[in-house]
Amino acid sequence: MTKPNFAQLKLFITGPTYIRQDVKEAALLPEFGHRDAENELRFGPIRENLRKLSGCGDMYEPVLFLGSGSSAMEASIRSLVADDETLLNVSVGAFGDHYYNIAVANGKNAENLKFEYGQPIDLEKLEERLDSLRPAVVSFTHNETSTGVMNDMKAVCALIRKYDALPMVDGVSIFGGTDLDLVNSGAAIYVTATQKSLALPAGFGIGFVSKEAEEKAERVTNKGHATDITRQLVPARKNQTLTTPNCTLANQMYVQLDRIVNEEGVQNRFDRHLQMRGMVEKWVDGLDGFEMFAPEGYRSPTVSTVVCPEGVTQAQLKLGIKEAMRAHGYLMDPGYGKLNAALEQSGCRQIIRIGHMGDIQPEMLEEYLAVLEGELKKLV
Ligand SMILES: *Cc1c(COP(=O)(O)O)cnc(C)c1O
Repeated sequence: MTKPNFAQLKLFITGPTYIRQDVKEAALLPEFGHRDAENELRFGPIRENLRKLSGCGDMYEPVLFLGSGSSAMEASIRSLVADDETLLNVSVGAFGDHYYNIAVANGKNAENLKFEYGQPIDLEKLEERLDSLRPAVVSFTHNETSTGVMNDMKAVCALIRKYDALPMVDGVSIFGGTDLDLVNSGAAIYVTATQKSLALPAGFGIGFVSKEAEEKAERVTNKGHATDITRQLVPARKNQTLTTPNCTLANQMYVQLDRIVNEEGVQNRFDRHLQMRGMVEKWVDGLDGFEMFAPEGYRSPTVSTVVCPEGVTQAQLKLGIKEAMRAHGYLMDPGYGKLNAALEQSGCRQIIRIGHMGDIQPEMLEEYLAVLEGELKKLV
């Protein structure tokens, strides 16, 4: 066999994220049969710890969808939006548009209410549209990964409920990095994935399904197979998956969630994310010509976006800085490609992203920012 020539890079992108050595080593735990008693030893604790990390109590049922975050998003669309209903999707960036595109691809009647990149959902404008459209279901992004904006989930869900619609929330890039307090969130379903703030390889979409969503799904037809939440809930309640799971990932997820809940502690984990957001803010404060992109009060605890000085080009970031950082052993994020292309086209300043989610530690971020600063200073 030829030995692969893969670089060992520390990932400071927004997903997949850096994986700890002990979580990598958990991949070596024994394979198992997913209908055997050994399955329960993994997925029993996994689902219990997902409850603790989300704060969902027993008001929601955690369901593991094979695939990724998008698989859980698609299941929410297929199972909770009936063919004769209207879905209003609210987008503050590329991932908001992604939810809308999934709805359209599944033939749903959907409208996309878009807000400017870098801004959170404007509740007044949302209310106007809710009032005129009267949608049955409303989907939105909790944490917009392309812009570093975190929406006020509880406020948005409350407004959606005021108009008797069902709120569906995409929390892919924030679950595990902030206190969701899901029980009090107002979300009918909350969907996420393993490879972002949970710091695991990709492979499961995760859905927290409320009783209300479960009842709605029972009335919806044409839900597909893997996207049918009604069907998924049956094995989920037995701590099983509908079809064969990635057993390697299950072993890793068992170890990682146990470590998060019983070793690091969920509150410590959430605090660490806030601390890292604060570190980036302070770093940007000290950098001439750079500023935070997302408005204060709506800055994500898992991904920060930084506006570069006038004159910095997309090519400089994508080729120059990114490659220089690779030589230092890092995978750097030169910004969301489509957003930066559009910004450059209209003569606006470029935006870089710093993923500080999952198991990135403050010491690692400090080192990263110091190296990045050295490279960025060569530009200006
Ligand atoms: C990454 C991401 C997705 C897509 O998730 P996959 O796991 O790649 O399918 C969707 N929404 C948000 C907010 C994301 O950050």
